[in-house]
Formats: sequence, C-alpha cells, structure tokens
Amino acid sequence: MNPQLLFWVPAGLRLSLLLAGAGVVWYFFGIVAGLAAGLIGMGVALFIQLHYLYRLADWLDHPASARLPDGWGAWTDIFSRLYKLRREDEKNQAELAEWLARFRQAMSMLPDGVVIMDDVLFLEWCNAAAEKHLGLRLERDKGMRVTNLIRSPEFMDYIILGRYEQPLTLSLRERKLIVQIIPFENRRQILVTHDATESVRIEEMRRDFIANASHELRTPLTVINGFLEIAQSQPNLDLQTRMGHLKLMIEQGQRMQNLVEDMLTLTRLESVEYPLRPERVNIRALLEQILREATALSNGRHKISLSVDGPDIRGSTDELRSAFGNLASNAVRYTPEQGSIDLAWRMAESGPQFVVKDTGIGIRPEHISRLTERFYRVDKSRSRETQGTGLGLAIVKHVLLRHDATLSIDSEPGKGSTFTVNFPKKAVVSAGEAA
Ligand code: ADP
Repeated sequence: MNPQLLFWVPAGLRLSLLLAGAGVVWYFFGIVAGLAAGLIGMGVALFIQLHYLYRLADWLDHPASARLPDGWGAWTDIFSRLYKLRREDEKNQAELAEWLARFRQAMSMLPDGVVIMDDVLFLEWCNAAAEKHLGLRLERDKGMRVTNLIRSPEFMDYIILGRYEQPLTLSLRERKLIVQIIPFENRRQILVTHDATESVRIEEMRRDFIANASHELRTPLTVINGFLEIAQSQPNLDLQTRMGHLKLMIEQGQRMQNLVEDMLTLTRLESVEYPLRPERVNIRALLEQILREATALSNGRHKISLSVDGPDIRGSTDELRSAFGNLASNAVRYTPEQGSIDLAWRMAESGPQFVVKDTGIGIRPEHISRLTERFYRVDKSRSRETQGTGLGLAIVKHVLLRHDATLSIDSEPGKGSTFTVNFPKKAVVSAGEAA
C-alpha cells in the first residue's frame, strides 16, 4: 500500500473519532461541554504532537547517541522510516570507511608516490612512497605548501611553467625521481613520483658501455685499415715490412676478437636466460688447467706454483674457469719477469677460498674499488700491450655474484697483489655427494 495512505488513514480516523466524541458530549451535555471536550481533545492531541516533535528534534541533534523514540500514531511510521534511513546511512558509512581503509592500504603498498594537494598546492594526503621519495611526513607536513616542502629549483620551475602534461626528472636526496602533476576534480591535484634511480643508472651504464666498446673496437680497426691502405697504395713494399704490417694486423685482429668474446661472455652472465646450472666442480682438475694456461702465457718468465688443500664446491665449471683464468692471467700480465705467482685453494673459516698472489706491479689504493668496472684500467697502455680488454675483472665480478662469492683485493704498489675469492660454506660439496 502507498505509505502516504498509511499516514493519512489513521490520522484521519483519529480526527474523526475526536470530532465524533465531541459530538456525543454535545448531544448529551450541551454545546459548551461539547466544545470543551473538543478543545481538551485537540489540546491533548497537540501536546502529543509537540512531545514527539521535541523528541524528533532531540534525536536530530544527537542522531548517533540517542535511540529513536517508538512514537505514537503517525509518528510510529515516521520514526520507523527515519530508523530505516539511519540504518542505511550507517551501513553506507561503514562500507565507505572500509573502502577508504582498503584504498589507503593499497596506496601505502604502491612503489610510486602519490601526493594529493589542493588547487594552491597545500598538502592534503600522501602515501608512504611519497614520504620516502620527497622526504615528507604526512603528520607533520599536512596543510603545508608542497613548494615549501620540496625545495628544488627544477620543481619550482615546473610549477611556475605549469606544463603538467610532461613529467619532470628531478634529482632529489641523491635519487632520480620522475614526477608529474595531474589536476583532478577542479580544485585538487595529484603529484605522482616514480623512483627512476636504478633505471637511470642502468641506462647510463649501457650508454657508457656502448661508447667504451665502440672506442675499444675503433682503435684496432683504425690500425688494420691503415695497414690495408698502405698495402693498396704501395704494392711494392719489401717483404720484411709487409710481414711486420701483417703481424701487427693479426695482433689487432686478435685484440678485437678477445674484446668481442669478453663482451659476449659478460652479456651472457648478465642474462636471466642463462641461469646458473650448478654441478660438482673438480677443483684440482680445474686449477691444474689454470696453472697450465698461466704457465703457457708466462712462457718461462715467472715462477708459478699451485697448492690445492680444500674441498670441491658446487658451481659452474665453465664460469669458474673463466673467472679463475682471468685472475691468473692478470697476475702473469702485471708481474715483471722473474716475479712469482702463487695459486692456492684452501678452506678458511668463512668457507673455501681461491687465492692468487703475485709479486707484480701492484695497484694504488684509489684504484682498487673501481677495478671491476667495465673497461677500467689503471694503466691503459700496459693493459693493451698484454692483450687486455679491460673486461676481465668485470667478468670475474659477475661470475662470483652468480656463485654468492666475493672478491677481496690486497695490493701494495711495487710489491704485488693478492686477489682472494671467498665462497660461502654452503658451496662445499660433502664427501659422499654425487656430481
Ligand atoms: P685488463 O684486460 O686491462 O687486464 P681487467 O679487468 O682484468 O682488465 O683488470 C683491470 C685493471 O686492473 C687492469 O687494467 C690493471 O690495471 C689492474 N689489475 C688487474 N689485475 C692486476 C694485478 N694482478 N696486478 C696489478 N694490476 C692489476
């Protein structure tokens, strides 16, 4: 039934009843008594209405605290409808609060920063990533102007120019941030921040690598081209000169080949498509091979020794051959004639170690932390003379990283160097373990 009818029918009935009552009194006791009864009835009805109006007003003042009155007559219906509305409102509010809590939790887990500001850049809210990126603290900074909190001239220019369709790369607190302002809802703006430190670093590394690799390849190519041009323009050069040119060209060709091979090795080591396939590494056999190669490279110019006193480990034999080979060949290449080189495999307290000790030219302390960077050389000409590519220790670093191993370098200029590879204990293969 129409709810309006539910309201009007009982109200109308009650009014008719009141009039009928007054009529009956009139009939039996005369007009004055009838009017008096009617007035008293109206007064009582008015009092009841006023009472419930008062209670309604009271409830409206404190809707949450006071329970809705039960009501009488039409008020019962009004109160029950108000009660329903209030229940719905409470449900909506609970849903909204839950949704807001979920939204805040999701926002706090975002790796990107989100700052909500009003139209004049006063901070209203920000998530944890934004606090970290921009050095904000919501509790402390709420209501403050964002331009007073992010003190950067580039950011100020960005705000002044107002070209928000383009993101801005910002250097802040030793990080590279990509920030962008997105206006929304007319009077609000969102500032989004993305930490690009790592990707910028990788991009710079990639650019440096390409520049260095091109430079390294260009030098031998220039030499080879030069000799080829001489051969073309002077076909009658004597045999001895021609043989000399050919020898130099072969050397440069070899250098290019070494470089390309080392670059490919590095790329492979960095690639996720080449996960480490650990196997049992026969350390003695591996180190004996390294010793033979170092002896061949030295060609009798050094005294080279090997001692193996430690367990086998799990790892990639090929990769370890490449890393150990690089360390041993460096020792030969950077140790003058008559010097000595000791290769040793031993079990230390922290785990197995491979030690390469030479009595070579040594390295000044300021270079040590940079030696594993690609193409970093202390002495470029010495490295090239000995067919170095500048990538050997970068390869060592990558191989060790894949084996959870570390490299420590001790060196004294003019006295010699010791390169120690430290493997974790967990790399050791127990006596009965199969390959
Ligand atoms: P390279 O091909 O130039 O030898 P590496 O990456 O193997 O490149 O080594 C980087 C640099 O570290 C070398 O150029 C050299 O200056 C220095 N270095 C490496 N091993 C030794 C060593 N045993 N003694 C002295 N210097 C070394």
